[in-house]
Amino acid sequence: MTEHTEIQIQRIAPRSSSLGEGLMVARTLPSRGRRLIGAWCFLDHIGPVQFAAEQGLHVGAHPHTRLQTFTWMIEGELLHRDSLGSEQVIRPGQVNLMTAGHGISHTEDSVQPGQRMHAAQLWIALPDAVADCPPDFAHYPELPQWRDAQAPAVRCSLMAGQYGGHQAPTAVHSPLLGLELLHDGKNAATLTLTLDAAFEHGLMALEGGFTLAGEDFSMDELAYLAPGPRQLTLQLAPGARVLLLGGQPLNEPVSMWWNFVGPDLATIRGYRADWEAASPRFGSVPGGEDRRIPAPALP
Ligand code: MN
Repeated sequence: MTEHTEIQIQRIAPRSSSLGEGLMVARTLPSRGRRLIGAWCFLDHIGPVQFAAEQGLHVGAHPHTRLQTFTWMIEGELLHRDSLGSEQVIRPGQVNLMTAGHGISHTEDSVQPGQRMHAAQLWIALPDAVADCPPDFAHYPELPQWRDAQAPAVRCSLMAGQYGGHQAPTAVHSPLLGLELLHDGKNAATLTLTLDAAFEHGLMALEGGFTLAGEDFSMDELAYLAPGPRQLTLQLAPGARVLLLGGQPLNEPVSMWWNFVGPDLATIRGYRADWEAASPRFGSVPGGEDRRIPAPALP
């Protein structure tokens, strides 16, 4: 247990944010104390929620720039539509990865009303060299899955990067890790995670909780670790579902405002003006023309 005394953990509390129509989500990135984990720059935990009979998630057309949106579905189904003409239903265990680059717009809608919904939506800041790339959309129906050798009750799903000899198919543009650990057994499990010492990491429970270096973390509380540790001992209660995010610290200025990432606020002002002027930068989403979300006022 002595190696744990060396590990410094920053505890980040979630805040509540609205996705509209009364749907609240837990947002842990960006937060006052922590803006990035590698290039991961946004983390929303949606649900788990049981929608009422006629209700669902409906997000009208909105723009993005210089980032990738990364949707990980746990329960329910969402229909993604974007200005490239993509139309894709995402189901549990799948990833939708939209690369905004120069500019894109999209809508997200529940496929059926009255469903349960549980998902994580993350954003990844694009490094400067590729940030203005043409937009793209990719759907990943299957990811590498395996059971932990020491704790076979824990199922690992690799969402991004490499882990334990596995490689995720998701196309990212900086060194990143995204791994989900799901404990579906009956007794508490202890597992040793092998970390890239050059990465900073974050752990967050999407269900249940975990114990790290003797500290308990409950659902939606983010545990941040600076680069350094090569191993981590993690205890999971039965039913726990934990996200492990990692990445090489992004040593570039990243400005974020509303749905935009930009090199600076002046550029973001320009993106906002382009969206308000219905510029071709963001195209238009088939079926989403009459529900464009206007940009809020700049601070
Ligand atoms: Mn979006």
